[in-house]
Amino acid sequence: MEDFQNSVIINRRKRARRFTLRVCQVTGKISLTIPFRSSISAAKKFLEDNQNWVNKQLNQVIPKTYMSIGTRVPVEGIEREISLKKPRQEGHSLGGKKLFLDCTELEVGVMTKEFLLSHAAEVLVPIIKQNAEHVTKKIKNVRFKDTKSRWGSCSSEGSLMINWRLIMAPPSVYRYVVVHEVSHLKYMNHGVEFWKLVKTLHPSYLEDRAWLRNHGRKLKSFVFKTFDCS
Ligand SMILES: [Zn+2]
Repeated sequence: MEDFQNSVIINRRKRARRFTLRVCQVTGKISLTIPFRSSISAAKKFLEDNQNWVNKQLNQVIPKTYMSIGTRVPVEGIEREISLKKPRQEGHSLGGKKLFLDCTELEVGVMTKEFLLSHAAEVLVPIIKQNAEHVTKKIKNVRFKDTKSRWGSCSSEGSLMINWRLIMAPPSVYRYVVVHEVSHLKYMNHGVEFWKLVKTLHPSYLEDRAWLRNHGRKLKSFVFKTFDCS
């Protein structure tokens, strides 16, 4: 990237003690936080010095995948080709290596998201309930969201949040996230007892956690909006 400095967002912060450079691995957005009194020329110098690092980070950003007919999108770890449904089929459905959508070509993005969201609820809610029974805790409610940085969360009152994009991951991976969050119903921390419980409920948790670290960003690179001007 020749003139990457022009696309860097510089934030001056009163509390900042030093220069902090970040490259978002999902969007490729570059931002630099600088102490309040630092000069722009010092910021530019810092960027120059770190250009190689920035380029390395930018190379790792996964390009976005926009939905259209023929696009491959993983569902439960299996790549499915987006297709329009056949006349005799009803609603959205999975078949062979395809995802059949009941919509027009223009609606493919929104409808793929609609399918993934309802499929996530259908598959994950029973797994959540099953595991909650194991730890003999009650779930207050489950929400499916698309959060930027977290795959799930759990409040002390028993409200669970799961990122619906996880339904694109292999079953073992989404099961791990469910087990992780349900285990927080019992232990609201990441202590030894917590991980022991996770291991009992889901022995392959280490592999699945590593999968998320290595491939999780890919799940966030799918864009379901029909038009994206950002
Ligand atoms: Zn946790």
